Amino acid sequence: NGLEALELTLRAWGIGAGDEVIVPANTAIPTALAVTHAGARLVLADVEPDSGLLDVAAVEAALTPATRAIVPVHLYGHAVDMDPLREVAARAGARVLEDAAHAHGAAYRGRRCGGLADAAAFSFYPTKNLGAFGDGGCVTTNDGELAAELRLLRNYGATTKYEHTVRGFNSRLDPLQAAVLRWKLDRLDAWNERRTGLAAIYFAELADARGLELPAVRPWAAPVWHAFPVCVHDGLRDALQRALLDDGVETNVHYRVPIHRQPCYAGEGWRPGAFPASERRAEMLLSLPLDPFHTDDEIRRVSAAVRGALRRVRAA
Ligand SMILES: *Cc1c(COP(=O)(O)O)cnc(C)c1O
Repeated sequence: NGLEALELTLRAWGIGAGDEVIVPANTAIPTALAVTHAGARLVLADVEPDSGLLDVAAVEAALTPATRAIVPVHLYGHAVDMDPLREVAARAGARVLEDAAHAHGAAYRGRRCGGLADAAAFSFYPTKNLGAFGDGGCVTTNDGELAAELRLLRNYGATTKYEHTVRGFNSRLDPLQAAVLRWKLDRLDAWNERRTGLAAIYFAELADARGLELPAVRPWAAPVWHAFPVCVHDGLRDALQRALLDDGVETNVHYRVPIHRQPCYAGEGWRPGAFPASERRAEMLLSLPLDPFHTDDEIRRVSAAVRGALRRVRAA
């Protein structure tokens, strides 16, 4: 799965106790779990207030001599600004591991996510842009040594049958899932194009909706819209989510609780307010329905429901 793809890559690099890994405060929990499962210290960096993506200046401020890796997350299928991030990492002697769990097929300056750093981790959880019928994940890299080490780690650390040079894991991709993924991979670009078309409808239909902020799209990015996250202003996110549910429109929040506010990391010393952009966004975010199998009409209907519900909750 994606968590193991992240964790095993860190382990393959020999990252563990005494090492620090920088992760955005606004991400799915597995990005952080990978670091702490590997035994390294989790260091968080805030995100850009308008995009929710890892803030390169915040990464730079979080560097210490113990920093061994940085994990940018191409959140919602929108690439992080990788060129300046890689410069910062190179100066610090840190590796860069892309968390590409949302970004199958996404591009940064014409190059695909997953090929923009030392290695990348993908998830094939069923809801992802490329999803199996169960769990799955993979690592992409051009580094042959890393690939060899990962092949060991995923298969009990076996160099030959019955000979185990490292204490490995069972993280093999199930062949049945591989067959499903292989079939779907050929359709990924078409499905991503469909997502982009549906996102364009949201942009057109919701452009002038009051109190609603549409997702930021940077000039370098060709996003694949794993999610369509809007920000609801004036403290009305939860009210809008309830009102939409009353209209039969289910929405989601990516993510409601930033990493440093998660109970499993209580006691790590992070105070409320430590990562203000992540916290503010956590209160405003709402992901509207979007997948390649919606029709244009459905997305227009959802847009109308959003406008109507927004008017109702703003008047209340
Ligand atoms: C889904 C996800 C993962 C982990 O993937 P699993 O296959 O569920 O372990 C990692 N990072 C992000 C950002 C994700 O959304």
